[in-house]
Amino acid sequence: MRLLKNKIAVITGAGCGIGKATAKQFVQHGAKVVIAEFDESNGQQTADQLGDNAVYFHTDVSDEKSVDKLFNFLRSDFNRVDVLVNNAGILADSTLQKLDADQFDAVLSVNLRGSYLCGRAAAEIMREQGSGVILNASSVVARNGNFGQTNYVASKAGVIGITKVWARELGKDGIRVNAVAPGFIQTNMTAGMPEKIIKMMEDKVPLKRWGLPDDVANVYTFLASDDASYINGAVINVDGGVVV
Ligand code: NAP
Repeated sequence: MRLLKNKIAVITGAGCGIGKATAKQFVQHGAKVVIAEFDESNGQQTADQLGDNAVYFHTDVSDEKSVDKLFNFLRSDFNRVDVLVNNAGILADSTLQKLDADQFDAVLSVNLRGSYLCGRAAAEIMREQGSGVILNASSVVARNGNFGQTNYVASKAGVIGITKVWARELGKDGIRVNAVAPGFIQTNMTAGMPEKIIKMMEDKVPLKRWGLPDDVANVYTFLASDDASYINGAVINVDGGVVV
């Protein structure tokens, strides 16, 4: 069954990891996908791999001008946006004692400001068309905190906050807004961790395994589809039960 037939979707940070898996599923479900990615080589390669229904557009989500260019392109080439996945995200971990203000701002500026800039631009188009879905990438750590992640946790908790505000503000315009809170997912973001920590985290998960990008992409695909038509303002954990 094709859940996203003829939908126009934009996925930020879709050159690798969860974003790439989501772009692949969206295309398989009949959507046309814009890969809004900072890394030109990964972004172009992903679009090439996905074929005619995917296109790469170089984007820095933290830069207002870059986001304006992305949404001008969406207006001129597609004249609509059905789904935005605010997936782009970065880490720059440090304990509070060593965390400098630039490191704090860098993470907030991609993860939170980037989601705000893209959400604002997408909502303008979605309001005009009277429909749309915005999906935001939070994290389990937003609910529980995490050692050494003041900046990252602040950004992901902020993402839950804006999800709930937008769900309230935009519902009357036919726009649904939800967040996904992944647990430990095997991507580049988590690849550099020491083996001992990886094993320790795995032991904490009731399902006794790390998540895969497709585990999260499955949820984005459902939430983006009309099957989720009464889900709004939700934060869905995709974490193998780790928060339990
Ligand atoms: P990833 O593999 O590192 O992919 C993130 C992508 O975002 C990269 O392609 C990255 O490009 C891109 N990006 C970074 N800064 C950008 C910018 N300013 N503008 C546009 N694109 C930018 O990460 P992931 O693990 O798939 O994570 C995807 C999302 O899920 C993130 O928001 C992350 O915080 C969240 N999440 C992940 C996990 C996990 O365990 N993996 C858990 C909870 C939440 P570059 O390669 O150039 O940096």
